[in-house]
Amino acid sequence: KLSKRLEKVASFVPTGAVVADIGSDHAYLPCYLVHKGIASRAVAGEVVKGPYESAVKQVRTEGLTDKITVRMADGLAAVEEGDEITAVTIAGMGGPLIVSILEKHPQALKTVTRLILQPNIHAKAIREWALANRWAIQDEVILEEDGKVYEVLVLQRGEMKLTEAEILLGPKLMSTKSPVFVQKWSREIANWERVQQAIAQAESTPENQAKHEELTHLIKLVQEA
Ligand code: SAM
Repeated sequence: KLSKRLEKVASFVPTGAVVADIGSDHAYLPCYLVHKGIASRAVAGEVVKGPYESAVKQVRTEGLTDKITVRMADGLAAVEEGDEITAVTIAGMGGPLIVSILEKHPQALKTVTRLILQPNIHAKAIREWALANRWAIQDEVILEEDGKVYEVLVLQRGEMKLTEAEILLGPKLMSTKSPVFVQKWSREIANWERVQQAIAQAESTPENQAKHEELTHLIKLVQEA
């Protein structure tokens, strides 16, 4: 059975999609997608040997070798000419790492119409990348599993405009304001306030002052939202 987190990612994959799952580890997500008849084919990419081997093993065990190709490659280098990938999933990494994967092999996205990205932290980096690269946020979800908070971002090609607060918090998440969302950002504000108190007690340097001001700005931004 898939984790609640990966199930959420899977729920945004369009039926009939050809999926590339990058950083697939055990390939649980592509196996689930093909089993359920959601994806017609899939590529599972892994850059590390151990996870690559468990992906190969899992695909074999589930009898899906004809539908899922496992490749050992760095990020989107796992996508080959002729794969005709229509959707890419990247889950379980930090936002900046997801962005670096998207930036490194842009040609791999040529046939792709949907990105389903699940950053563990710093989703902001993904929204900034999307804005700059003409991807628009179609949907966003925040969820909690085993005491950890995850975000799922669904991108389609298109233009969007986002305010500073929307880039940080997520335009959809900000308008829905689910309990998990409110809890996450209340904790974040409490952290920032703690850092500010530490700064106030430390030596007064220009750097410390700048950091203090930046945090005041962030706290105000989030509180207003
Ligand atoms: N996607 C799975 C999930 O969400 O449960 C696995 C997440 S696991 C925490 C992250 C995986 O990404 C690791 O197996 C790691 O080897 C892989 N990874 C990290 N950087 C990568 C890259 N540049 N290209 C391919 N895989 C990468």
